[in-house]
Formats: sequence, structure tokens, C-alpha cells
Amino acid sequence: MKVSLPYIHTYVRKRLFLGLLACSLLTAGLLAYALWHLIFNPGESVINQTLVLAMVVFLSTSVVLAGLGMAGILVTLLASKRLFFFQGPMRVALNIFFPVIIGLGRLFKIDADRIKSSFIEVNNQMVKAVQYRLAPEQLLVLVPHCLQNSDCPHKITVEINNCRRCGKCCVGDLLEIRDRYRVKMGVATGGTLARKYVKDYRPRAVVAVACERDLTSGIQDSTPLPVLGVTNERPFGPCNNTLIDMVRVEKAIKFFIAEKAGGKNSTS
Ligand code: SF4
Repeated sequence: MKVSLPYIHTYVRKRLFLGLLACSLLTAGLLAYALWHLIFNPGESVINQTLVLAMVVFLSTSVVLAGLGMAGILVTLLASKRLFFFQGPMRVALNIFFPVIIGLGRLFKIDADRIKSSFIEVNNQMVKAVQYRLAPEQLLVLVPHCLQNSDCPHKITVEINNCRRCGKCCVGDLLEIRDRYRVKMGVATGGTLARKYVKDYRPRAVVAVACERDLTSGIQDSTPLPVLGVTNERPFGPCNNTLIDMVRVEKAIKFFIAEKAGGKNSTS
């Protein structure tokens, strides 16, 4: 029996994250400019001026790198092609500026989960800009334990094969997909266990299912390992009998391991 979703997954636009990233760069740039003016304030001591100068150099370097990174992200998204030159700056833009982006979002009263969903969309699009041809065993699918029916007595976090595939939750369907594609699969209770799976299996890529918060931190922790994120649905509240769109999981798996018919994968 298939478990159906009670409501449709909301598509979050990538431009929310990119817009906030641009605002963050502008804010950091203006701050660097204001501090630069402070250096020439005759009332400041030499030590203070040196400290301010160090901050200006740090901020300016970050803004320039993140600006390059943002350009790299835009080129990657528009051309569906990743350029090696932009890899480092893109990391600065996506990871170091992330707390600033969340802070700005709070200021504009934008829900943090919406921003994180947007970040996941940007990340996924960037992962898809590279073509993969992995063997099934090089791909790890990580799913959260909250997908399991809360009344189920079988312990799947230790051993996912303990699932009896009774159809009361989507774990059975996930196992079917795992067996069909012969990929590795692990059930994680949090970031520590997810990191352990990555360390033990040493995958070349990951398909991760989780909430926006865990996916965001997982993607950032795993850099430079490519991670395609699939957000779960939480109709019964956080961490309780959560659901998942199997089609999206299957598409993500096929993106990494499918034979490239016609030269390009058909993921969207
Ligand atoms: S499908 Fe598996 S995990 Fe889900 S309730 Fe049934 S036995 Fe438990």
C-alpha cells in the first residue's frame, strides 16, 4: 500500500535566497565603507584604527569573494554548467554568508524555513549542473527516522531491514526503491548519525531526505560532497509521522546513477 501525501509540496523559488544573499553583500559592503571612514576619525587611537582596518580588510575580502560566488551561482543556474574557478567563492557565498542571510530574513520577517527551502533549491540546481555516472553502491540515501510510523515496534534506526513493509508508513516503499536501484540507505536520527553513515559508506554523492533545518546543515557540513536534498512533509507536526514524495526521491536517485540516455539526465 502506498502512503499518499495529504497536501502538495510547495515549490520555493530560488530567487528568495539569491535576493537575500545580494542584500547581505550590500549590507556587509556598506558596513566596510562606514568602518573605513572611522579609520580616519582623528579621535580614534592607533590601536582602534588598526582593529577597524583589520575588520575592513576582512569584510571587503568576504564581500568580494561572496560577490564572485554569487556570480558563479548565477552562471551555474543560468547555464546549467559549473565552472571550477567559482567553486571557492561559491562556498563563501553559500556557507559563510548564510547566518547573515537568515538574520536579514528575520529582520524582514521572512520565515527561516522558507529561506532554507530556497537555499536547498539553489543547492540542488547547482548539483544538477554537473553530470554524474555513479555505480549504485557509490550513492547513499539518508532518510530521517520520523518517517517511521510512531506506533511501529520495529527498530529501524539500527537496522533498516527490520522494517516488515506493512504499508503503514513510507519506509517499506523506500526499501523497495533501495532494492530496485541497489543503492545504500541509512536511517538517521540526527546529524551525528548522518555523518557516521557518510564516514562508514564513503559515498560519492548523497540523496538526503529531511526537514529544511537538517537538510541545510547537512548540505553545508558535507561540502564538497554533492547532496541532493528532498524536504519531507510534516502534516502531523515536526518529527512525527512525516511523509515524503517518493517520485522526488526516485528522481534524485536516478539523477546520480541513471544511464545518460541522450547525453543528459531527465531530472527537473
Ligand atoms: S512500513 Fe516498516 S517501519 Fe513502517 S510501520 Fe510498517 S514495519 Fe514499521
